[in-house]
Amino acid sequence: MTDRKGELAANLAKVEARITAACAAAGRKREEVTLIVVTKTYPASDVRILSELGARHVAENRDQDAAPKAAACSDLPLVWHFVGQLQTNKVRSVVGYADLVQSVDRSRLVTALSKEAVRQEREVGCLIQVALDAGESLRGERGGVAPGGIEELADLVAKSPGLRLDGLMTVAPLSGEYAGRQQEAFERLMDLSTDLRRAHPTANMVSAGMSADLEEAVAAGATHVRVGTAVLGVRPRLG
Ligand SMILES: *Cc1c(COP(=O)(O)O)cnc(C)c1O
Repeated sequence: MTDRKGELAANLAKVEARITAACAAAGRKREEVTLIVVTKTYPASDVRILSELGARHVAENRDQDAAPKAAACSDLPLVWHFVGQLQTNKVRSVVGYADLVQSVDRSRLVTALSKEAVRQEREVGCLIQVALDAGESLRGERGGVAPGGIEELADLVAKSPGLRLDGLMTVAPLSGEYAGRQQEAFERLMDLSTDLRRAHPTANMVSAGMSADLEEAVAAGATHVRVGTAVLGVRPRLG
C-alpha cells in the first residue's frame, strides 16, 4: 500500500512535470490544462490513493469495471469521466456515476443519455468524440463521429434536457492521413473546436492526448489530457 502510494506519487510528479514543461514550451499557463487520470483496469484502492495524492479527475472506459469502482469511491471528491464506446443498454448505469461522457458519437446515444439524466435528475456533461480517421464513412474504427457530423450532434446535445454540451474529444488515429502525426490531428481538433464554439461558446473543452502524446496535445491547445499508463503503469492486456 505505502509502496503503491510512493509509486503513484512519483508517476504523478513525472506527468505533472511533463505537462508543466509542455505548457511552458507552448506559452500556455499550467492552469489551462487539466489532468484526467485514466484508472481503467486498476482497482478502487488505486483510485483512493490518487485522490489522496490530489487527483481530481478520473476516467474509465468500461461500465462493468467502472460501476463498482465508482460506487466504492463515492465518498471521494472526484469528477468521473466516461471515455469508452458506450452501448445504450449501459447508459442507465453510466449516468449513475459519470459526471461527463466524452464518447458521445451518435444521436441514439444522446437520446438515451438525456432520458436517463432526466430520470435520475442528473446533469451529464457531453463531449462529442471526433473520429479523424473516419474518412468517407461516418464512424471511426474506435468510435467517434466524422468531422462533418459534429454540428448536428452538438445541436442535439445542446437542446437535450439533462445534458450539457462541453466540447470535443479525440483519440489520435492509428491509421489514415493522421497516423503518426498526432500534433496535426490535435490541431485539426482545435480547428473543429473553434468552429463549434461559434454556435456553442461554452463548449470549450478539448480533450486530447494520452501518455504517449500529451505534449503534442498541449502544444495544439488541448484543455484536458487523459493519462493512464504513465501514472498507473502498463495495463494487462484488454485494457
Ligand atoms: C486508455 C485510454 C486513455 C489513456 O491511455 P494511456 O496510453 O494509458 O495514457 C486515454 N483515452 C482513452 C479514450 C482511453 O481509452
